[in-house]
Amino acid sequence: MSFDLNARLAARRAEHLYRQRPLLQSPQGPEVIVDGKKLLAFCNNDYMGLANHPEVIAAWQAGAERWGVGGGASHLVIGHSTPHHALEEALAEFTGRPRALLFSNGYMANLGTVTALVGQGDTVLEDRLNHASLLDAGLLSGARFSRYLHNDCDSLATRLDKAVGDTLVVTDGVFSMDGDVADLSALAKAAKAKNAWLMVDDAHGFGPLGASGAGIVEHFGLGIDDVPVLIGTLGKSFGTAGAFIAGSEELIETLIQFARPYIYTTSQPPALACATLKSLELLRTEHWRREHLAALIKQFRAGAQALGLALMDSFTPIQPILIGDSGRALRLSQLLRERGVMVTAIRPPTVPAGGARLRVTLSAAHSEAQVQLLLNALEQCFPLLGVDESSELNHA
Ligand SMILES: *Cc1c(COP(=O)(O)O)cnc(C)c1O
Repeated sequence: MSFDLNARLAARRAEHLYRQRPLLQSPQGPEVIVDGKKLLAFCNNDYMGLANHPEVIAAWQAGAERWGVGGGASHLVIGHSTPHHALEEALAEFTGRPRALLFSNGYMANLGTVTALVGQGDTVLEDRLNHASLLDAGLLSGARFSRYLHNDCDSLATRLDKAVGDTLVVTDGVFSMDGDVADLSALAKAAKAKNAWLMVDDAHGFGPLGASGAGIVEHFGLGIDDVPVLIGTLGKSFGTAGAFIAGSEELIETLIQFARPYIYTTSQPPALACATLKSLELLRTEHWRREHLAALIKQFRAGAQALGLALMDSFTPIQPILIGDSGRALRLSQLLRERGVMVTAIRPPTVPAGGARLRVTLSAAHSEAQVQLLLNALEQCFPLLGVDESSELNHA
């Protein structure tokens, strides 16, 4: 027997789960050119509108002039340069923690952190809806791995009772496909009661949440004792690329010694750290971005609810419209695209079976007029979908 890749691909297509990569032919932003067509897009994670900001671009250019373009080696050899170090110090200060450690991306930060902290004989407990990188990290760690019901402290508590060894509880801060927020105070309390550590991946909370954009821990007023391990990614609200872990001196030293995805990889380009230092400054100080974004979220939710669309329990820039069937979600996405609006359909296995949705994301770079155009397009397109033949209601 050999690999029958064509059969696998055909099966994927038949289930409406085949993935295609739209070709972006412009910078990231509300107005983009995709596959040759000008579109108004509501699907990136550039929540603060910094991915194409002139000052961030200028910082990157100046950084390249000063520091060159390549990291050149891993951090432990000779790749840990002055801009990387300055960014780590700035992120530590921003998060109010003793230290921060810079990674090349969030996927690696999660793999590196979980596998450095727990292994055979330990326990890792994760929310069912955690990001794939966290679930993969838990499995790779070799620790006893169990998923608790989404945001459910009772479900977590029963697993904590059975935990062995060092125990790590892992959750998204803002859930990336639903937009809801972890019940962090309760999770922290449950973890502390059992001497477990709580690790929060706040990829989507940094920027929009908290008075200074410091994310879910700032939003809930939680500290390092509640959340000893805090992850942020830099490719979303920061508009650049990379990730960081913020925590105690001992945590960061442990990761430097034991996190293989940190040790065995080339450092990110130093000029990228220069760009992120600038975007961090804008993210913290330009409060109008958070305020404008909050107003757009309110506007979208009110408009979508008036249209009878199924929104999720979210006050964040992630505002999915639940559709259910993958084929219908694809069709709605296509209808919107024909009217010049781009919102991608998110299908299983990224979301649970029967949970296909249009993942609308809003950005501080959008205008109120653009959100109204999205609502107008939804008003036109949604009725064209017709009755959902596959829904449970119709089968009942
Ligand atoms: C995007 C994302 C990641 C991965 O970060 P990258 O820097 O893009 O690799 C990790 N966790 C969550 C919750 C994310 O949304």
